[in-house]
Amino acid sequence: MIEDELVTETGIGDAGNSGGRKPILLKFNGKSALSISFDIGYDYIEGLFSFLDGDEIKSESKRKLKIDSTNVVGLIRTIVSDFEKVAPETKHGIIGITLAIHGVIHQNKVVFTPYYDLDTMDLYEEISSIFPYPVYIENEANLTALGEYTFSSTFDSLISLSIHSGIGAGIVEDGKLQIGKHGKAGEIGHSILYPSGTTCPCGNQGCLEQYASNKVLYDEFAKLKGLTHVNTQIIRDYYLKKDTETMILIEKNTYLLSIGINNVVTLYDPEIVIINSSIYRAIPEMVELVKVHMNGYFSKDIMICNSPLEDKATLYGCTAINGQHFLNVQRLKFNEKI
Ligand SMILES: [Zn+2]
Repeated sequence: MIEDELVTETGIGDAGNSGGRKPILLKFNGKSALSISFDIGYDYIEGLFSFLDGDEIKSESKRKLKIDSTNVVGLIRTIVSDFEKVAPETKHGIIGITLAIHGVIHQNKVVFTPYYDLDTMDLYEEISSIFPYPVYIENEANLTALGEYTFSSTFDSLISLSIHSGIGAGIVEDGKLQIGKHGKAGEIGHSILYPSGTTCPCGNQGCLEQYASNKVLYDEFAKLKGLTHVNTQIIRDYYLKKDTETMILIEKNTYLLSIGINNVVTLYDPEIVIINSSIYRAIPEMVELVKVHMNGYFSKDIMICNSPLEDKATLYGCTAINGQHFLNVQRLKFNEKI
């Protein structure tokens, strides 16, 4: 590993009380290889070119797009080409491209994407045929959880909630991502909150994400205020002014999300629940509002916090996947910021 520049010697340790040879201290060299990460939403694509330890070399963000099966490959190709132009010299070069997709993924296959049509193409084959690097595809919420585990958290068992148009939970238990037999584990957005409720693209009625997602909050707020355009900043401004309608809406949203969190906590008994949501970042008080409702025996002591990695958690999760495969390890932990 020293020859491969994967570890470097940092000194000689203490032999301790047992005698014998003094241990050689080793440090992982995260600068020996390069990683490419993509977060692909239904209206944006973000790329991160980094060293294996997450240190950024270049990033790109294209927003207000409509991502679909006709343009996604071209967008990825352009961004990877931009990254390759600025690649620093390293021992191993680019060791992988990982794509985060908002949907069900099983063994690199995009199985079900309710908010865009990437499940109608073989994304893995198309990207693999263009670039000489290994390609990995994983669910966005799973990668977000893995990003937190690898780059921000001191905990071994955590749940990360990704809240956008949908709501997905990424589950890490004892350092390992739990994806289930078919890649469907953690799809709590499709747990049923109201039987016979609002129809969901998944085919169920009354799914949690039809009531507690960011999209639903934006839509309800827009309707309430007669607005055609809403963003987190506008909702935050109304909230800080203590606008009664906004306060009621936020209270309802956090209460309904707390039911989803309660349910997932009873299933997995994590050490911490990390929320990854632009609206929860803009109004951190919402985390406290969720906690108020978490008062049952099974959920009252659970730690809940906003994501330390914020909107970069998913990209860091992609970097973790590239690193795991390259190093052939199941667990990777770079630093502990919490
Ligand atoms: Zn559903």
